[in-house]
Amino acid sequence: MKPHRGLLAAWLLALAASSTATLSLPVAFRQMIDHGFAGGGAAIDRVFLLLFGVAVALALATAARFYFVSLLGERVVADLRRKLYAHLLELDAGFYDRTRSGELVSRLTADAELLRSVVGSSMSVALRSTVTVVGSLVMLFVTSPRLASYALIGIPLAVLPIVAGGRRLSKISRASQDRIADANAIASETLGAVRTVQAHAREPYERGRFESAIRVAIATARKRITVQALVTAVAIVLIFGAITLVLWSGAHDVVAGRMSGGTLAQFVLYALIGGGSVGALAEVWNELQRAAGGMSRIGELLAETPQVRAPAQPQRLPKPLRGGIAFERVTFHYPQRPDLPALEDFSLRVRPGETVALVGPSGAGKSTVFSLLLRFHDPQAGSIAIDGHDLRTLDLTALREAIALVPQQPTIFAASARENIRYGRLDADEAAIHHAVRAAHAADFIDALPQGLDTELGERGARLSGGQQQRIAIARALLKDAPILLLDEATSALDAHSERAVQQALETLMEGRTTLVIAHRLATVLKADRIVVMDRGRIVAEGTHEALMAQGGLYAELARLQFLDAAAPA
Ligand code: ADP
Repeated sequence: MKPHRGLLAAWLLALAASSTATLSLPVAFRQMIDHGFAGGGAAIDRVFLLLFGVAVALALATAARFYFVSLLGERVVADLRRKLYAHLLELDAGFYDRTRSGELVSRLTADAELLRSVVGSSMSVALRSTVTVVGSLVMLFVTSPRLASYALIGIPLAVLPIVAGGRRLSKISRASQDRIADANAIASETLGAVRTVQAHAREPYERGRFESAIRVAIATARKRITVQALVTAVAIVLIFGAITLVLWSGAHDVVAGRMSGGTLAQFVLYALIGGGSVGALAEVWNELQRAAGGMSRIGELLAETPQVRAPAQPQRLPKPLRGGIAFERVTFHYPQRPDLPALEDFSLRVRPGETVALVGPSGAGKSTVFSLLLRFHDPQAGSIAIDGHDLRTLDLTALREAIALVPQQPTIFAASARENIRYGRLDADEAAIHHAVRAAHAADFIDALPQGLDTELGERGARLSGGQQQRIAIARALLKDAPILLLDEATSALDAHSERAVQQALETLMEGRTTLVIAHRLATVLKADRIVVMDRGRIVAEGTHEALMAQGGLYAELARLQFLDAAAPA
């Protein structure tokens, strides 16, 4: 709440005003009963005016209090969500390998929502009720010390079960929020792949999975609600039991003439206000425990530190960058697979401007080479350098600015074609975008879209064919204009026309850049300066297509399976 001191102060002021007004109401009430009726018409007017004045003051102060504290709640939650989101964006690939994105969205929404209820209302109720409880206690003693001492017995009795229930509640609430996150994770995964679900006619299966997640969430929530309900019931019985006792004794006092009717009325009002506030405190305590449960997971997420981090004083990459790449005896295994090295003693030097094709069976480690060069992970042994600069000495943004990636399955955002291409360089002007579109051989199909470059492409590019998505990704990479290009060729065959357009676009893109390409096409390996054959994380052969074919071995076999069967007559 620190950044919002102004709001906090305004709220506290309004709170003080409204509490004062609340606590003066019973006094005005006693005045009315004891003197209002006796003093004739003028006195009645005065007393009722006073009563109404207090009520108006109470109304204004309450409105102000509500306004300030609700706004404070929104601001605090917005801050938290901003902070958590920014933090999540920085976390490394290893974290995302073990976390479901749907769960994170749940933390950003459902858990943050709990905090809103704490700051926006519970905190307000807590402070207000505390003030009211203390205030009415003091006023109870002022009104009648004897009766007040009875009330003192009730309060500690009421607090005990509340505190006892609170501890359980915090634990249950954490579990409850976790179950909600589970359900959200399932929903977001399924909806993200809704075509696969429908193609398999697995709607009933997915519905069942979601329903059982919801059922578990409800069962957990029910435990929480039960505890909360019990605590509330016990607290109310204890508090109002004490009040009834006091009233009973007070009634005898009035009948015996030891106390005025007005004083008893004032006492009862204070007791009701104070008792109600103790009840409110019980509920707030529950809420706080609940939020503490939800916050503990957010706290854990905020405490996650990215494993891949730039040094405090990163080296500068020279401009212009030449784009030489050097892997020196790199050994790397994924955090989840400590037994299986994805790359082992892997050394590869790529000269600036050279095109190197990576070929190998699936699982050979080709994509891992890309991930390491982008520094999504750090190798356990060996080093990787660009133009002689070890990646670990560089600023992450500068490093990734130097590399353009065209993945096998390009990511198309739910935005216009223009925005999708501009993702490569956010400050690109219209001319640069048009140039990239033409160079990527994307002009013909983009012009044919209903609103041209302004056409919304739909989530994951739902409205584009595979070849068109690839050309959008190529235009994006062209716009980025990075000296190093990582290209993962699509395995799926495109139609002949698309294939040619994509091929030409890629050639334009590769021109003058250092290119590492995971090759699936004969045309690509034939054009590469060098082919590197990988198997089980190691380089097993290197050379040109002809030389490698002459050698026989793994390459000749792969080439027969992957490249040549398409070219060979059926
Ligand atoms: P290729 O691109 O040549 O098909 P990869 O580089 O994707 O191969 O994978 C190399 C090895 O690393 C494989 O055994 C694969 O199972 C494993 N692997 C890839 N990605 C991960 C990951 N995120 N977590 C754990 N293991 C992985």
